[in-house]
Formats: sequence, C-alpha cells, structure tokens
Amino acid sequence: MYTIKGKTGDWEVVVGLETHIEVLSNSKIFSGASANYNPTIAPNTHVSFVDAAMPGMLPVLNEYCVDQAIKFGLGINAEISRVSRFARKQYFYPDLPQGYQISQPADEPPVVGRGWVEIIGDDGNPKKILIERAHLEQDAAKNKHDMHPTKSFVDLNRSGVTLLEIVTFLDVKNSENNSYISSPDEAEQYLRKIREIARALGVSKANMEEGSMRADVNVSVRRAGSKKFGTRTETKNMVSFKFIKNAIEYEANRQVELLESGGTVTQDTMRYNQADGTTSVLRSKEDALDYRYFPDPDLLPLVITDERIERIRKTMPELPEATRARYINTYGLNEYDAARLTETTDISHWFDTAVGNKAERAKPIANWMISELFAHPENYDITNTVRERDADEPRIITPENIAELVDMIGASEINGKQAKEIFIKMLDGETGTPHEIADKFGMKQMTDTGAIEKIIDDVLSQNASQVEQYKSGKVGLFGFFVGAVMRATGGKANPGVVNEILKKKLG
Ligand code: ADP
Ligand code: MG
Repeated sequence: MYTIKGKTGDWEVVVGLETHIEVLSNSKIFSGASANYNPTIAPNTHVSFVDAAMPGMLPVLNEYCVDQAIKFGLGINAEISRVSRFARKQYFYPDLPQGYQISQPADEPPVVGRGWVEIIGDDGNPKKILIERAHLEQDAAKNKHDMHPTKSFVDLNRSGVTLLEIVTFLDVKNSENNSYISSPDEAEQYLRKIREIARALGVSKANMEEGSMRADVNVSVRRAGSKKFGTRTETKNMVSFKFIKNAIEYEANRQVELLESGGTVTQDTMRYNQADGTTSVLRSKEDALDYRYFPDPDLLPLVITDERIERIRKTMPELPEATRARYINTYGLNEYDAARLTETTDISHWFDTAVGNKAERAKPIANWMISELFAHPENYDITNTVRERDADEPRIITPENIAELVDMIGASEINGKQAKEIFIKMLDGETGTPHEIADKFGMKQMTDTGAIEKIIDDVLSQNASQVEQYKSGKVGLFGFFVGAVMRATGGKANPGVVNEILKKKLG
C-alpha cells in the first residue's frame, strides 16, 4: 500500500476526483449552435442567442447529449436515474454570460448515479473504484487576456458546450470501505480507465492536452489504520496525468508535515504551480462560493424511460476491458499483446477484421501487427477509410493482406522469410495481393522432401569437416547447416522440413 512515512508514523492518502469530460456532439447542450470551438474557428461565430444569454431565450435540451451520458453511465456500470433535474449554479464571471451555469443539483441524484470502474490496485490486485455520480452541465466561454494591452475579450464559442462531470465516491459513513483512490498511481489508472471508456463509446475525446478532459483533485491524509477520514483540500483544473500525480504527492506530504507539527489542515481550494510542482491556496473555506443552486424553471425534469436505456445498451460496442479478456481467453494472447491491440477501438477492429472467424490466425496476426505493422504507421490505415490514394502515397496494407500472408504460411505455401519479403515489397509500394506478389516473384516454398534431401546431402558432403566436428559434440553447428541449406535453396525451403531431415542425417 502507498503510505507516507512521517516522523511519527505512517499515513494513508485518500483521493477523490471530479473529472470533466467534454461530450462529443454536433450542437451544444441547450442550443443548436455548433459545439466546435477549436482555435481555427473565428471567435463568437458558433453562438446562438441562448449561448449569449439574450433575455427571454429558452434552453432546449439536446437529447443526443443525454444519450451520450446514459451510454457513459452504462459503461461505468452505473444506475441511470429515471428522473433528474437541471439546476442553476450561480456565480459571476465574464465567461459566464447567464450569470449561472446550468448543471444538475449537487444534492439530488443526477442523470448517472452510483457506478464503478476497476483498476489494478497498488497491491497488484483488481480494485473497484466507486463512482458517486456523473452529471450533465454547460461549459463556460473563454476569456482572452492577451489580445489587447488594456482590454480583455470573451469568446463565446465554448459557451454551452456539453460537459459530463464524473465524481468518485468516498464512503464517509464507513471509512473501512476502501474502494477509493489511495495513491498517485491509482489516480492515473482511474483516469486512464475513464478516458478509455469515454473514447471507446464515442462519448468524448477525453484528451487532457486539448482540454476535453480535466480534473479537480481532492486529497486528504489519515494515520495508517485510522477509522476517520481527514480534512481534504481540492486542487482545481488539472490537465495532465503527471501534474495530477505530482499534486497528490505534494499535497499529501504537505498535509502530513502540517499535522505532525501540530497544525490542522483547512478545507482550502488550491491551485497547482506547474513551475515548481507545489500547490498554493486559491481561496479558503471562509470565502467559499455559495452557488445557491435552484432548479432551472426553464427546463423540465429529465425523464428517462427503461426503453431508452435498453435501446442505448444495444448500440454499445464491446468495451476494451472485455475485448482484452476475449483476446486472452479465446485467442491465448498474452496481456501485453492484448493491451497493445486494444489501445484504440480502431486497432482492435482492424485486428478482429483480420482474424475473422479463424482463431488460429489470432496469434500470428497479433505478432505481425505489433512487431511489423505498428512500426510503419504510414502503411496501414487503422480506421480503414477507403479512398483513392495518389501514386506517390504509401501503399495501404489491409487486414485482408495480413490474414492472407498468415494463411499462406499456415498452408506451407511460403515460409516466414518469404512472408517478410512479401511484406517488405508491400511496404515499398508493390501492388497486388500477397498471393499475386508471391507468384510474380516466384516465391514458393519448397516442400518437396526429396529435393530438399538431395540439397542437404550436397551441403553435408561439401562440409565434411563441420559434420565431423558436429558429431564430436559441437552441436552449435546445427544452425550453420540450416543456414547453408536455406542459402542453397534460395531461402525457399520449408525450415521445419530442413530441420527434421538434418536432425535425422546428423544423428
Ligand atoms: P464538493 O462538491 O464540495 O467538492 P463533494 O462532497 O462532492 O464535494 O466531494 C468532491 C470529491 O471529494 C468527491 O470525489 C469526494 O469523494 C471527495 N472527498 C470528499 N471527502 C474527502 C476526503 N476527506 N478526502 C479526500 N477526498 C474527499
Ligand atoms: Mg468540488
């Protein structure tokens, strides 16, 4: 277990994460304006009257975003609330034209209720991390302070874009329920799991660098074995795994030092200082914001039927965790290969397409993909987008091509070395299927045992002294004979057959 060694004993770390992911949708959560606010879009062009908070404009809920939330909820094994509400969270800041953010009430079940994800805990065993809730809300606009020496500007393109906030659960009534994050490493794993699920379901790009995933990090410490949770601080708006891990470590150590020197932790909101990896107080509890939540009178309660949940459940793809389990259990792949092949759903689709219904292809195809294809990203189109390619563009190697190569080896039509040659020819732009390339270049495996035997006899008589040495114990020479035979056959012999006959002849 991850503990902090203090002067007076060991301390445990308790972490709660509030993760925001930006929901993928064409339009915003309460307006028809485009949700695309990327930097190439001219400021204040994807803005409706609702997003600009013009008086009298009414929000209209984007049902697709609700579907996305439900899908994510099912992905984290959560209860979906049949009824939930939208509420106004009041605060005043130039990036919030309404003067409030439409969110879901903090003290009522939101659209997604209690759920969980599984990670590998610090002790190496699977560990459930409980999730308290996930609620829908609006993103704010963006203030721009760097465009004029004395003026600030506001770009409303992001105003009203859909966010889903996912909050981990801490069982304060039962502090021995340890299904929470208790180390920097577990925090990273949890976030990676959230990201993986969001991406696999197409709910969010969940990209921290691009800002479509960010987290508030709550940290407290307690003496190892203590039955009570300590007071926490909350570090806001973290946008990298590394910073999040640093912040947890720094905060936990700071709190331990403070407590051991007789101080108390105050429930402050912190900022993380990237330059030196420290945290400092942004605002204290005394001036904590009073959001004065109240139900938004412009929006009806969000009612979700069982039919809707079932309809969405049916459209859900297999999640990467299940895909990995399938690769390991039905194809016998190892954990590493299974992990590489499920890094994105496009990769696992590619692999599944190549394997088709021939399980015996799985292992060799996994090897080809991981050790050859991944090294040549320009030569395979993982999304399988079919389009005309210019003559000077690299040839695209398809799942069918690799399946065919693997089948040709399996049927002893070519050997592994020839397959590699065909593969390299494809990389170099040779057109045609592997069969066609093999024919064109006369690559056919020599399986005629009689012919191979004849060549072996020749090789052995030409290398009589090596045969002598081999027989007197220098068995390392075996490879030398194999190499000589393969050379003599122009690399065409079936290596298995060569090995077998050689062993027999050399005794
Ligand atoms: P708020 O909305 O005021 O930030 P919440 O009760 O919603 O507070 O909690 C926010 C996050 O902080 C949750 O993930 C929760 O599990 C976590 N949290 C609550 N108490 C603690 C604590 N003592 N130590 C660490 N994390 C905590
Ligand atoms: Mg909070």
